[in-house]
Amino acid sequence: MKEGYIEVKESVPHAGSYDVIVAGGGVAGAAAAVAAARGGARVLLTEKTVNLGGLATTGLINLFVPLCNGRGKQIITGMAEEFLRLSVKYGFDTLPKEWKSGPPNKPTDERYVTRFSAPIFSLALSELMVKEDVDVLFDTVISQPVVTKKGIIDGVITESKSGREYYSAKTIIDVTGDADVLFRAGVPTVQGKNYFTYCCYAQSLDSMRRAIDADDVSKVTEWVYGGNATLYGDHQREGERLYEGTSNTDVTEYMLKNQLLALEKIKTKDRKRFDVVTIPYMPQFRTTRRIDGDYTLKESDKYRHFFDSVGAICDFDRRDFLYEVPFRTLVNSNWQNVITAGRSAAGEGYAWDVLRVIPPAILTGQAAGTAAALSVKNNVPVIKTDIKLLQKTLEKDGVTIHFDDALVPANNEGGEKADIGHF
Ligand SMILES: Cc1cc2nc3c(=O)[nH]c(=O)nc-3n(C[C@H](O)[C@H](O)[C@H](O)COP(=O)(O)OP(=O)(O)OC[C@H]3O[C@@H](n4cnc5c(N)ncnc54)[C@H](O)[C@@H]3O)c2cc1C
Repeated sequence: MKEGYIEVKESVPHAGSYDVIVAGGGVAGAAAAVAAARGGARVLLTEKTVNLGGLATTGLINLFVPLCNGRGKQIITGMAEEFLRLSVKYGFDTLPKEWKSGPPNKPTDERYVTRFSAPIFSLALSELMVKEDVDVLFDTVISQPVVTKKGIIDGVITESKSGREYYSAKTIIDVTGDADVLFRAGVPTVQGKNYFTYCCYAQSLDSMRRAIDADDVSKVTEWVYGGNATLYGDHQREGERLYEGTSNTDVTEYMLKNQLLALEKIKTKDRKRFDVVTIPYMPQFRTTRRIDGDYTLKESDKYRHFFDSVGAICDFDRRDFLYEVPFRTLVNSNWQNVITAGRSAAGEGYAWDVLRVIPPAILTGQAAGTAAALSVKNNVPVIKTDIKLLQKTLEKDGVTIHFDDALVPANNEGGEKADIGHF
């Protein structure tokens, strides 16, 4: 036995057998589960918290970044748009009037972007899972993938109030955001680094008055920050290190420091006129760990068509920039029945940022779920997905596979900043 280790032998009950296991119920997981279920698969979604939506809800990141190119043309379609509409169906929206009821019929600088109520979106996702017959297990952490033959994950061991249990599946979708399943199975992964960021939702008598004057509840929220570094590292506090977010000690230090910093700011407020309504219940890490995929999307891939594109996406920060997402960013072909999506898709540098935000995470979730359902239906490993069939199925389900060349600016330029107020 390796020094410093103990050996544990145990029998774990085989609690269920599924076509597809979706590990993680963030927006990518929710999209993957629904797409797989709509494709006819029996789906189990396990989520370690008791709410769906991940960073977008539990993590309080309630800005659905744009689905358009910044010129009035919608780029990201399919379930990303379905989820955008769902996010504001029962709660407020901040959609510009040009996009209130679909694409505008003339060019506009306004972007197809909205804030949404994070708790209400989470509840709406639960309603969707029930409607689509996805079996959900809350408060259930996937602790260990089971690999009996190299390149195949037979199933996963979960940890919950029921103890340790085993669930098997034909295809596994790792949408934990941290590539937990991939990493623990031995699939090659790449570690990311994170600046120091933490935000809570607050309200004050002043913000309430502003909301009442405007008759608009979306104006009631104020933000209290611990760290408030942007994804570019602006406002990273001096002397603060970068965090990986893939060990309990790293996560704990990050959270404690951020929580205490936020509390220092709260202490300066008048406690009779100010309240913090919600704190984040998961760490707000942007890039923790992702698959070392068969292809890694790069910033220089903008305006490039891919034969295995699973959808066109746009840049949230810059007008005109367009990308396609190759299926190969979701898989590592040494692993037969495993696919990823969302924050763990393979992108590098700024391209990872473009790929991981809410709409592309949903798009890759839809692609992974659809591919998983096709693989079960046709009895082929997900890695051997017939790309043409996948693209045809995604197109039928509303996804734009290739961007329109007419939207590419002269000399492949573009990239004018288009501030949408993200944090
Ligand atoms: C500070 C910050 C600001 C951001 N700003 C924006 C923005 O303005 N707009 C935007 O569009 N995007 C923004 N993003 C990015 C965006 O929120 C995320 O990239 C996106 O929501 C990722 O979705 P996901 O489903 O891939 O992953 P996640 O949201 O991380 O979901 C993963 C889910 O898996 C669960 N899970 C994890 N491990 C396990 C396990 N072992 N077993 C079971 N369940 C598990 C988690 O609880 C979680 O629910 C921001 C992110 C951060 C951190």
